[in-house]
Amino acid sequence: SNVLLTDLEKLQVLGHGNGGTVYKVQHKRTSKIYALKIVHGDNDPTVRRQVLREMDILRRTDSPHIVRCHGIHDKPSGDIAIVLEYMDAGTLDSLLRGNGTFSEPELAHVARHILKGLSYLHSNKIIHRDIKPSNLLVNKKMEVKIADFGVSKIMCRTLDPCNSYVGTCAYMSPERFDPDTYGGNYNGYAGDIWSLGLTLMELYMGHFPFLSPGQRPDWATLMCAICFGNPPSLPAGVSDEFRGFIECCLQKESSKRWTATQLLGHPFLCKHPISNK
Ligand code: ATP
Ligand code: MG
Repeated sequence: SNVLLTDLEKLQVLGHGNGGTVYKVQHKRTSKIYALKIVHGDNDPTVRRQVLREMDILRRTDSPHIVRCHGIHDKPSGDIAIVLEYMDAGTLDSLLRGNGTFSEPELAHVARHILKGLSYLHSNKIIHRDIKPSNLLVNKKMEVKIADFGVSKIMCRTLDPCNSYVGTCAYMSPERFDPDTYGGNYNGYAGDIWSLGLTLMELYMGHFPFLSPGQRPDWATLMCAICFGNPPSLPAGVSDEFRGFIECCLQKESSKRWTATQLLGHPFLCKHPISNK
């Protein structure tokens, strides 16, 4: 059932992204709350292509671990409006800044939800390509869901190397910069696992793992650290299981990284079984 735009009333702005604005909206008859993402009708064909790709992927997905899409509208103005499931606790990024760092049991919970989403996407031949705290949404039921398919793509048999420089560079895996050294037999899905590893480390430590707290990101230094340095590691004091889990995500050689399905059976998650807290 497609939610109609004329039935929606804007309540407030939730945030601004690269190509548009997200509003909190209410359905006039059912009173249900949604998020409405308006992507400005750019004449830029790259932007338009990216939005259309996002729409196509959202239409196909049906998982409790992926933010649900309730309608897509091509407005006469050229803007594109996407009606999304409203996630009432914000992003992992805003939770980190508002509540501070996450504990190991909390991270096991977060990891399990994201891995179920990634396992669903990867089994449907979809690579997300932009896993990072601000693209992971949370609701008050403490469900964590994957959002923002702007740069994801359906895996093709052949990989177009010119197409691989998308996504938020900081979270990109070594093989996206240097496929000859770290790509093995190139497996794009493993890039999402690398990004997940960095995301979980950031939520534990409170800052991006390749930078010291407060250090300003500098693209060239960061790229060198990702490609030529050792993968970042957790500080002393974490459990062996958590350290091992992060190591399975942050193998530089992509073929050595665990898959989403394998990680769902990792001892770190077994140690923190599903709870209803
Ligand atoms: P980028 O353009 O790099 O993706 P972004 O993720 O911040 O940046 P958007 O995806 O446009 O940009 O989202 C903007 C903000 O709106 C998000 O940071 C989030 O706070 C909020 N938001 C997005 N989707 C939802 C949703 N379904 N429910 C609640 N809030 C949302
Ligand atoms: Mg986003």
